[in-house]
Amino acid sequence: MSQLGTPRIEINLAKIAHNAKNLVRLYDSKGIGIMAVTKTVCGEPAVANALVNQGIHTLADSKLKNIKRMREAGITAQFVLLRSPAISEVSSVIKHVDISMNTELAVIKKLSAKAIDSNIRHKIILMIEMGDLREGIMPDTLEEFIKEVLNLSGIEIVGIGANFACFGGVKPSGENIRQLSSLAETMEEKFRLPLSFVSGGNSANYNWFMSTSDTEKINNLRLGESIYLGRETLNRMVIPGLYTDAFTLVSEIIELKSKPSVPYGEIGQDAFGKRPQFQDIGQMKRAIMGVGSQDILVSGLTPRLDIDIIGSSSDHTVLNMKKANLKVGDELRFDLNYGALLLAMTSPYVSKEYVGTYKIYKDRIGKRPALEIEMFK
Ligand SMILES: *Cc1c(COP(=O)(O)O)cnc(C)c1O
Repeated sequence: MSQLGTPRIEINLAKIAHNAKNLVRLYDSKGIGIMAVTKTVCGEPAVANALVNQGIHTLADSKLKNIKRMREAGITAQFVLLRSPAISEVSSVIKHVDISMNTELAVIKKLSAKAIDSNIRHKIILMIEMGDLREGIMPDTLEEFIKEVLNLSGIEIVGIGANFACFGGVKPSGENIRQLSSLAETMEEKFRLPLSFVSGGNSANYNWFMSTSDTEKINNLRLGESIYLGRETLNRMVIPGLYTDAFTLVSEIIELKSKPSVPYGEIGQDAFGKRPQFQDIGQMKRAIMGVGSQDILVSGLTPRLDIDIIGSSSDHTVLNMKKANLKVGDELRFDLNYGALLLAMTSPYVSKEYVGTYKIYKDRIGKRPALEIEMFK
């Protein structure tokens, strides 16, 4: 049994590395490079290192703290801030980030001023609104926007990008990809801007990629979920050959009793202000795990055994154990969806444990990077 106890999340670096390697190869077959998104794992340096070892040299995160954490651990990569910096973060962005994604002139002006102060050129990718209605410059204002940016010193536009299926659920399609590509063409021709990144989306672009013979000007995708969970994100279909179980949430039974399936007594609100409904299926074998909605996204867990999650409060999760023959103290294992993975990685109450055939050597001398990872053959 693990020394870390429960709850813990087991991270199989060999499976993550396998997924990353296969996705790099797949997308490279049509000329598309990969930025690996590390926000999903809170910038865990060991995961970042495994990704870099698979030939991914650009790591993208939406949190400065995560980028600093990876840098401090000695990860050598190009670091991208995945969202527009807040004005209050500008100094820190100039210091710790190689490329930031931007949509606001007011922010880019501050970045420019700081970059000049620091005697550097800060690289930016302009995000374009393509209908998903989260971040992005409206396409019909892009040319004016670029003209303004080109007047600023200390700033270099290195790409454009768009995001799909994150907020509005809008799919990347032939049509919106063509529009992004033609904007890229205009920028290159009209403003003589060589675009290192025409970043066409995220894990939701898999079906578009597989079905298109022409990826047009798209030369980059930003991948999180498909690396970590092995799925595309429009229908959550498994990508052939990838692992979906690189992460496992492990919890432990703290109570196990036969109880009725419907609460008895007068019914008011539950812990979250709802009036719960239960179906009467007679007596059931009910287990409790000492982990709840404060630590994990309970609705995003799928038990690996044939048992059902009935519900949770802040620190308890109740299960119908059906025919499973377990006892108090036994561990239960779960697959996680994207939301559950985010929360489990973020929670200080969930220990992180590395498992599998990758070995992590902690720094012994104190001078070398904090983590070194080697693949066992
Ligand atoms: C989170 C994020 C991604 C990664 O999305 P996945 O679905 O995990 O691949 C890509 N781009 C941006 C801008 C993001 O915020």
